[in-house]
Amino acid sequence: MPPITTPKDRLRLALQKSGRLSTDSLDLLKSCGIRVKSPKEKLLLHAENFPIDILFVRDDDIPQLVMDGVCDLGIVGTNVLEEAALERRTNGTAGGYFVERSLDFGGCRLALALPEEKPYAGVKDLQGLRIATSYPQLTRRYLDEQKIKAEVVYLSGSVEIAPRLGLADVICDLVASGSTLEANKLRAVETIFKSTAVLLRNARELAAEKSHALEILLRRLDGVQKAADTKYIMLHAPKASLDQIKKLLPGSENPTILPLAGDDTKVALHAVCSEAVFWETMESLKKAGASSILVLPIEKMML
Ligand code: ATP
Ligand code: ZN
Repeated sequence: MPPITTPKDRLRLALQKSGRLSTDSLDLLKSCGIRVKSPKEKLLLHAENFPIDILFVRDDDIPQLVMDGVCDLGIVGTNVLEEAALERRTNGTAGGYFVERSLDFGGCRLALALPEEKPYAGVKDLQGLRIATSYPQLTRRYLDEQKIKAEVVYLSGSVEIAPRLGLADVICDLVASGSTLEANKLRAVETIFKSTAVLLRNARELAAEKSHALEILLRRLDGVQKAADTKYIMLHAPKASLDQIKKLLPGSENPTILPLAGDDTKVALHAVCSEAVFWETMESLKKAGASSILVLPIEKMML
């Protein structure tokens, strides 16, 4: 029988219940070997094979839950985190937390955008305007840095329609591809914050069991992230150009060289490349005499 764990022995992680970060967050746990049923009506789920419980909430609640120690960990965008941190600093209620890892999803930027037809020559043109945003703290900080006096209006959602409704002249909102802006006849003119998802952690010391579980989780997470940037490359190389071919392999140290049955002028070369393998690299390899070049993804790594 596995040992019975009490909630005190289990890590508690806050995830976005449904939205842009949900699928990627759950996929990340899955690739770390943690099995959780997908959230339906449940607020709290216990992982079946790892001492971690997942609390499903709105993303805006995640910084607070971690800062106050209700959850040990949380996955949230730095846009939401920084906004909450600035607000807490203003109120003097900053809690102890830190960013444990940056994650490779949830990338977007917070940008100032204005109606397409409105002329814009630089930040000075924002002077005296009304700016609608769900991120008043980040917007205000940017305006202060730029020494611009403008009115910031808080809207909790649908910020992009504010200019059309006459609620504001400018918006400050999240942009990824820019299609929402385009659909609303707006254009981004300044990026004020670049955001990505992060694993946030409460700063207090963890009990031994939790600390051990976190260590394992982080090691797996690093393995998954490292594997994502790494490729396994296999090719046939003429013995005569082996040295030249080895030098072309990005970020690989000791390739495995194997004899090729029925051809002693060539060898098979297998290598782990720690950098991206681009088409250009493959073309250079081919030019150097390599053939049958295969580039394969790596699922997990532990060095
Ligand atoms: P909730 O109901 O949890 O409050 P939400 O509507 O505030 O959800 P989403 O639109 O799901 O939030 O976005 C969650 C996070 O995803 C954002 O705060 C941001 O960090 C990230 N993100 C990534 N790409 C985009 C994008 N194109 N637009 C908006 N957010 C994005
Ligand atoms: Zn939200």
